[in-house]
Amino acid sequence: MGRPWRRGGMIAGAAILVIFVFLSIFYIDSFTGIFAKFSDAFRQIKNDTKPATATMDDGDKAAKDLHAPHNLPENSTATIAAVGDVMMHEGQIWSGYDSKTGRYNYFEFFQEVKGEISSADIAVANLETTLGGRERKFTGYPRFNSPDELADALKEAGFDVIFTSNNHCLDRGEEGLVRTLEVLGKRGLSAVGTSRAAGERTGAIIKEINGIKIAFLAYTYGTNGNPIPKDKPYLVNLIDEDTILKDMTKAGKSADVLVVYLHFGQEYQRVASEQQRELARRLLQKGAHVVLGSHPHVTQPGEWVSVLGPEGEKLERYVAYSLGNFVSAQRFPHTDEGMILKITLEKDLLKNRINVKTIIQIPTWVDKFKRDGRMRYVVRLGEKPDAHKN
Ligand SMILES: [Zn+2]
Repeated sequence: MGRPWRRGGMIAGAAILVIFVFLSIFYIDSFTGIFAKFSDAFRQIKNDTKPATATMDDGDKAAKDLHAPHNLPENSTATIAAVGDVMMHEGQIWSGYDSKTGRYNYFEFFQEVKGEISSADIAVANLETTLGGRERKFTGYPRFNSPDELADALKEAGFDVIFTSNNHCLDRGEEGLVRTLEVLGKRGLSAVGTSRAAGERTGAIIKEINGIKIAFLAYTYGTNGNPIPKDKPYLVNLIDEDTILKDMTKAGKSADVLVVYLHFGQEYQRVASEQQRELARRLLQKGAHVVLGSHPHVTQPGEWVSVLGPEGEKLERYVAYSLGNFVSAQRFPHTDEGMILKITLEKDLLKNRINVKTIIQIPTWVDKFKRDGRMRYVVRLGEKPDAHKN
């Protein structure tokens, strides 16, 4: 009974051995290929862990291009382009007027900087005028009211968030302030710093870019003596540290990043005051990632500020004390110089926190020239040419 089974087993065993040898010969190349692929995949996984600890400036394209199946997710980034005061003096109003149509067009202001503005994920500006409508008469300094077409130009240039808390926001009273928000809203521009109704005041505008939720908050030192009705404090966000901190706490519950805009500082002073420094540093210490300032109408050097994180770790934050004028017809020294501040934020997935990764200042200046008997205004990239230096 056992013998036939044994012989059969031997034949089967030999057959399996032969098949195995054949398979080995046929597939030896494939096996080495598979092994090579396996070891490649292993190398890729090791490489892909690099961007998590290295800076993006490494330009480690090879590591970024790999698509191994078990990649660690890369840190996401978001960029913000911030500019200072968008002003609208008398000459600027008329620069865009078309007597044939009775309309205005200000696209020319931003045509040269449009690329830098629109290439950022989010672009922000301070609108230092009102859009109160033709019936309230268009005027420049000292009480500003500008054509709605200024908002069209901001939208066309690529701006997304408009800060409206500044000393000119009540230049056409409550109606002008409310209408300004309506005009911006109709063009898809988000405004922060003023509100039409108590229920509308959220304290912050939140934008999400690549999974990074960025909250923008905005405040002003005052309203040039234009009274804020006592029963309507929501109209204008005034700089009040307790209010700002409360708004920051609330925004921090749903946002990863806090960007606080302050309309503050001394006009025409080219360095920040002690009051500016103290307030900005306190806000950074209490959770703001970036503080943006303007109102002096000239640029003031910004600075990195080291703050302590929740676990006592050192974090780098940034304050731009004054971004200067972005567009204006002002003629005082340096009031025609400004900047586009490019901020790169990074979500560090390993440490689960946001880094202010890079800050780049791109200088700008306002070129004023005559064409067809009228003054024109164009924001140009770069330093103002020496020949025209004030
Ligand atoms: Zn101002």
